[in-house]
Amino acid sequence: MKKLMAANWKMYKTWDEAQATARDLVGLAAGKLPADREVLVFPPFTALKAVSDVLDPVPGFSTGGQDYYYEKEGAFTGEISPAMLKDVGAAYGLTGHSERRHILGEGDECVGRKTAYGLSKGLKVILCIGELIEERKADRVEEVLERQLRIGLKDVSADFDPEQLSVAYEPVWAIGTGEVAGPAEIVEAHTFIRKNLISLFGEKANEMRILYGGSVKPENCGDIIALDNVDGVLVGGASLHGESFSRIVLA
Ligand code: PEP
Repeated sequence: MKKLMAANWKMYKTWDEAQATARDLVGLAAGKLPADREVLVFPPFTALKAVSDVLDPVPGFSTGGQDYYYEKEGAFTGEISPAMLKDVGAAYGLTGHSERRHILGEGDECVGRKTAYGLSKGLKVILCIGELIEERKADRVEEVLERQLRIGLKDVSADFDPEQLSVAYEPVWAIGTGEVAGPAEIVEAHTFIRKNLISLFGEKANEMRILYGGSVKPENCGDIIALDNVDGVLVGGASLHGESFSRIVLA
């Protein structure tokens, strides 16, 4: 299983800025990318084509959409479909990011519909899950992760390809805060997620990737990526510059 090194650019970068960062990244990392690594960038929708034009021709590099809606087309102002993402070069889609859950009000049911729909339309999907700090302090981490997995994956068809579906564990308190989860917390959560995936999908869940996200930096990525059941990282702030994200990708 290749490790997936993913960048989430959130609501940053115009077309030109995004393309320049993608070029920097390719210049710094493409020639040195180990065969067991894959690089993925989630630009804002408006810069997807700018970035996919640069990354798609490079082996091991691809792009994705930070969100999408669970309909083909229609009167859904402001929304975008998996087919529209694929049309501008996206191979992946992200669902359930904590900013969509906690700032934009998306619930588990909505996240679940998006996950199953994106997969059924040929996107590779990364479902994000993770607990709030209050939930961790109240010893509710497993309860939250179990619920987000069960509802987030409930409509996924049983014959899905495990290489098409990944889970990102992103404790909300570690996102954009500089406070990275400790190795024991990461291993505990990822082991719990793996067990749940196996009980939902059987042994093929061993072929699904589980990514860690939350204040990953060039300085801590090597240690995180070496932990058990960590099959990649999802990076926000430190992915915004080609120089720092290239160091993460190669860590
Ligand atoms: C993210 O946006 O998914 C994320 C993990 O952000 P950061 O790396 O900035 O914590």
